[in-house]
Amino acid sequence: MTRLFRLACQEHPGLATIALKSLELWTALGEQIGERLIHQTGSLSIGSPETPPVKGTLATAAASGLPVSKIEHAELAARQPQYSGLAPDDVAIWDPGGGICYPERNVRAQAGAAQRLGAEIYVHTMATSIEASREGVIVHTPTVEFRAANVVVATGAWLGKLVPNLPLAPRRTPQYWFQPRDPRSVDFTLDKFPAFIWQRSDGSHLWGHGSDEDFGIKIGPVNAERLPENLDIDPDQMDRYIHTGSDIDAAAAAVAEAFPGLDPRPAKVIPCVVTDSPDGQFIIGRLSRERSVIAAGGDSGHGFKHAAGIGELLAQIVAGESPYCETEFLDPARFF
Ligand SMILES: Cc1cc2nc3c(=O)[nH]c(=O)nc-3n(C[C@H](O)[C@H](O)[C@H](O)COP(=O)(O)OP(=O)(O)OC[C@H]3O[C@@H](n4cnc5c(N)ncnc54)[C@H](O)[C@@H]3O)c2cc1C
Repeated sequence: MTRLFRLACQEHPGLATIALKSLELWTALGEQIGERLIHQTGSLSIGSPETPPVKGTLATAAASGLPVSKIEHAELAARQPQYSGLAPDDVAIWDPGGGICYPERNVRAQAGAAQRLGAEIYVHTMATSIEASREGVIVHTPTVEFRAANVVVATGAWLGKLVPNLPLAPRRTPQYWFQPRDPRSVDFTLDKFPAFIWQRSDGSHLWGHGSDEDFGIKIGPVNAERLPENLDIDPDQMDRYIHTGSDIDAAAAAVAEAFPGLDPRPAKVIPCVVTDSPDGQFIIGRLSRERSVIAAGGDSGHGFKHAAGIGELLAQIVAGESPYCETEFLDPARFF
């Protein structure tokens, strides 16, 4: 699978430093093991001038000194003929450092690097509870018990099960892949149809990227999954079936309207889960009530690109070192 990678992140100016750290670490690790962990083809953030993709991306780029450029409407329409229904005032911000990264490949690479440095990985071992005391923590599992001075809990949608009272809302989010209507079309290769986020004039969002590989062109219609039954779910009870009506119809209609060169029936759909926080930012840091417990979650759907950078930050928090990035906007304490 893939995830969008952006450096000038519209969500918060402080995220650029973390994305840059991921880029540095993944580039070095990729060179070390001979694998591509990140593919920088550039990315487009599209919308009218006051929308977050445009305004937020420009603000982050300005704060971080990133070399983005603005593509005016006429040039955007000429350069990206795949798009239909661009509003008259839609423009794009081109982030040349953007592109895509690869969750499974990158996680395997990182786990392998950690093992080479002496980490022990217990696969298929579920942490059932965490006991924190002044002496440290005990992590219980059905087989082993771990005692440590600190624990980092990064269990995604299941974070709230181990660390209660965090304001987390897991959301069921189908993931879609499409194919060109014309199988000979070369309009949707990754270089011609690079990673994008597009806020349309009706307020809905589309995001995705082209592909040179068989699994297809990834398009995420953000608002399609915001049905009440998909919000604030228990990840253990998540509906893992895909439904013709509720999961397909709105996504297919959005793709038919926005990208007429694609077959609007998705070639593949997989149910996934995003964990929202109230302000859309991650929740990373020591808990004020239990200082030995460090939470790392609340991905709000934009966390993977920061994974290596967040790992570095977590290591610094555990080691008591000064963090390399801004941390206030991530601190769990902002909600208490
Ligand atoms: C459809 C979709 C599209 C996305 N697109 C993008 C994108 O384009 N760009 C981007 O940057 N981000 C994107 N994201 C967000 C990104 O995938 C997440 O931010 C990231 O995967 C979160 O990582 P995590 O490690 O916190 O959680 P996860 O990746 O969910 O990992 C948590 C792990 O903890 C394990 N676990 C859970 N409970 C326990 C337990 N009790 N004991 C032991 N292990 C446990 C789970 O099995 C899992 O392996 C997207 C997310 C979705 C769903």
